Amino acid sequence: MNTQLRQLPQVEALLGLPALQALISEFSRDEVVSALRGALAELRRTIVAGDPADLPDFASHSFATQICDLIANARRSNLRPLINATGIIIHTNLGRARLAPEAIRAMQEVAAHPTNLELNLHNGKRGSRYDHVEALICDLTGAQAAIVVNNCAAAVALSLMGTAMGRKVIASRGELVEIGGSFRLPDVIVQSGAILKEVGATNKTRASDYADAIDEDTAVLMKSHTSNFKIIGFTSAPERRDLAKLAQDHDLIFMEDLGSGVLINLAPYGLTDEPVVGDILKEGVDLVMFSGDKLLGGPQAGIIAGRADIIAGLKSHPLLRALRIDKLSLAALEATLRLYRAPYDPLERIPVLKMVSEPVAQVKARALALADLLEGLGAISVAPSVAYVGGGSWPQQDLQSYAVAVEVSGMTAEAFANALRSAAVPVIGRIHQGQVLLDMRTVTDAEMPLIVDAVRQAGRS
Ligand SMILES: *Cc1c(COP(=O)(O)O)cnc(C)c1O
Repeated sequence: MNTQLRQLPQVEALLGLPALQALISEFSRDEVVSALRGALAELRRTIVAGDPADLPDFASHSFATQICDLIANARRSNLRPLINATGIIIHTNLGRARLAPEAIRAMQEVAAHPTNLELNLHNGKRGSRYDHVEALICDLTGAQAAIVVNNCAAAVALSLMGTAMGRKVIASRGELVEIGGSFRLPDVIVQSGAILKEVGATNKTRASDYADAIDEDTAVLMKSHTSNFKIIGFTSAPERRDLAKLAQDHDLIFMEDLGSGVLINLAPYGLTDEPVVGDILKEGVDLVMFSGDKLLGGPQAGIIAGRADIIAGLKSHPLLRALRIDKLSLAALEATLRLYRAPYDPLERIPVLKMVSEPVAQVKARALALADLLEGLGAISVAPSVAYVGGGSWPQQDLQSYAVAVEVSGMTAEAFANALRSAAVPVIGRIHQGQVLLDMRTVTDAEMPLIVDAVRQAGRS
């Protein structure tokens, strides 16, 4: 082992070799030096681990190629595009909603130029960033007022801090959810400075449970969308109308953490469990909070819509600035919201909604087309599959789909899936019964050639 370690050359010595000199002129000295350090460190690790590998010929073309690859790798962004072939449309690990071209253009414009972010163009005075989307949100939901913050978690925290600091928030035991990323509603309520009063049981809570718990310290009745699980069987939850009446009678605020929040009815596409924001407000909820990048199909943002007097209080909250939305997200949100209005059809324009509503026959046609393109790169077949909305929607909220199954001889499904993730443009599929499945509901036509490239690269590795 020691002899081998001693045989490892110094970086300085390697830099004099003609093949590496050529790399220095192609890239830069700094990049070649750090790639060489990386390669030598890797060799040292292999030797120390007792894997006496043959040392490479450092003067060879193949060693130079290896250094070249390391440099190309180091130049690549850590955060970069990939292909979501999981069949989960709103995948949190994969960045949730992809944006409509209109939203992307709006971000580019605002990124490249000064804007009227906080300037009122009518009177030349200071304006508010919140004004750019408020009227649109009100128009689309029927709310009196609205404000947007960084994300829905921030929307929930701000709503509670602004209305229930030091006072009681009554919530149902069946709705105190954890939505992932350690966002647990009961903890958020407490961390917002409110006192949580749980009522009812896991499977059953009645309006009378809320009523019995109301006392002079109570500020808020809270409802939340049990986004990511479902209790079935012997269950009940109070009607929104009953809680709204209760809140009104006792001069309390009734708020709902909706999570995925949709602006149009998606029941015709199988999403029967996603209440429309406008309908919830009509049922008498004072304040509703929802995400910008779930089923709404826009950028990361949290929207609070509802009663004007409460929203006015939130707008002057001292911590609002810590939660505020940035100009790029704001631009994308405004552009996305505009796609819900004439002359546009949101189901056509907004990628998330397009994927949710695409007829399964089209998904199947895409699967067959991909299978053709992949011909000869492995054992390829097309089969029905199940896609999901994701993003905290009810997991059973499944959508009919089609997937291309790929098997490469001599490779396990795990090894092949790993190799697909290492491709120049990574492809993320799912493994099912020893095969890698590429679900076509979350893939666009434009991405098909990239999948072919990735499968070709992965099969060679
Ligand atoms: C997703 C979700 C949130 C958090 O939304 P973010 O935009 O990710 O912060 C809050 N509440 C519910 C019910 C959710 O589903």
